[in-house]
Amino acid sequence: MALIVHKYGGTSMGSPERIRNVAKRVAKWHRAGHQMVVVPSAMSGETNRLLGLAKEVSPAAQTPQMLRELDMIASTGEQVSVGLLALALQAEGLDAVSYSGWQVPVRTDASYTKARIESIDDRRVRGDLSAGKVVVITGFQGMDDAQNITTLGRGGSDTSAVAIAAAMKAAECLIYTDVDGVYTTDPRIVPEAKRLHTICFEEMLEMASLGSKVLQIRSVEFAGKYRVPLRVLSSFTPWDINIDEEAKSGTLITFEEDENMEQAVVSGIAFNRDEAKVTVMGVPDKPGIASQILGAVADANIDVDVIIQNVSNDGKTDFSFTVHRNDYQRTLDLLKTQVQPATNAAQVVGDNKICKVSIVGIGMRSHVGVASKMFRSLSEEGINIQMISTSEIKTSVVIDEKYMELAVRALHKAFDLDDPNAAGAKIGS
Ligand code: ADP
Ligand code: ASP
Ligand code: MG
Repeated sequence: MALIVHKYGGTSMGSPERIRNVAKRVAKWHRAGHQMVVVPSAMSGETNRLLGLAKEVSPAAQTPQMLRELDMIASTGEQVSVGLLALALQAEGLDAVSYSGWQVPVRTDASYTKARIESIDDRRVRGDLSAGKVVVITGFQGMDDAQNITTLGRGGSDTSAVAIAAAMKAAECLIYTDVDGVYTTDPRIVPEAKRLHTICFEEMLEMASLGSKVLQIRSVEFAGKYRVPLRVLSSFTPWDINIDEEAKSGTLITFEEDENMEQAVVSGIAFNRDEAKVTVMGVPDKPGIASQILGAVADANIDVDVIIQNVSNDGKTDFSFTVHRNDYQRTLDLLKTQVQPATNAAQVVGDNKICKVSIVGIGMRSHVGVASKMFRSLSEEGINIQMISTSEIKTSVVIDEKYMELAVRALHKAFDLDDPNAAGAKIGS
């Protein structure tokens, strides 16, 4: 008998019928002898609806006090889900109980809307499991030291599930979603995308951080830190499929590189439309200028991603970087009011119609010319590269948003990801 954590995303919980299907699937696992903890998301569209209501009431909720209330509002979506799922499980004849994060409790820091899980007390849940119950716990949320409800950032139910699996040393955490695994790129953008049978942890971490929202990045970090066996699979297969078959389906996140495996150079393509670019033009090219600009941005708690500084011309240079699109206006305002006067910069300009496209693969470590192949295939499509950033296992470019799909498709083809045979043993059947 193993302890298994199932996580079901919003689409999988999207209607009473789907919730009943989830219950039937969980009941099948329970009857097979497993102890089951289930972590559902809010029903699809619900978190957006709740945050939309908040925005109507208060368009510019930014202060910690206001963010606290956003979490109070957004957390209710999952509270409804756990209650509905526990009811559906009871209707299946199981003894099931639902908890909100604070009832477990799942403890987090106090960074409202993007809180981090600090600890999970599993005593109550363990007691229930020992009594033969199925335990249903809200995704996406916890409680800070002052007993305020916090949420973990969009897509945070993945992180709740993996963190619970880690804390309880579960045998496996299964992330059920609306696709049947992790693909070479988002199958909604590239229909030729292929499901990966396995993906190594480092690649999954890059894919998630570069925009593939199939797993929230913090869930992958948790899985890596605590070595949680993690699998992404479909919630849309018939609930009564053979359990052994189901347990092997989807994509397994692996922690050891398989030496025998034929390694693709590029395993996947990620993209992200959530960024915006800002440029401080005509700043004096002298020591300390980068820290002067980025220091002010960091002080405002704004995360910076890709950074580029142009070659100096007449002792003046242009300094560009990207931020999350939600922080775009705030960054522009801050640069214009504080940084421009302090540095004597000529002008501050911005562009929020950009996107970042990245190629990811541990095979890049042992291959040269991967980035140049990327740049060549983009240039053949007439796509101008505005910024570049690289690491050992990824290369990202910032381009005009309107070319995003074209770029992703071109790169998917250029790196042979369209070809079912070329990516070797990693491709699933
Ligand atoms: P859930 O509600 O189950 O958490 P999400 O919408 O958060 O589901 O994540 C699943 C979605 O992630 C898929 O529908 C797919 O469009 C998208 N996605 C992006 N990149 C990938 C990828 N590389 N492989 C699979 N799905 C991806
Ligand atoms: N319901 C939350 C969201 O929409 C959390 C999640 O779905 O993982 O972001
Ligand atoms: Mg998700």
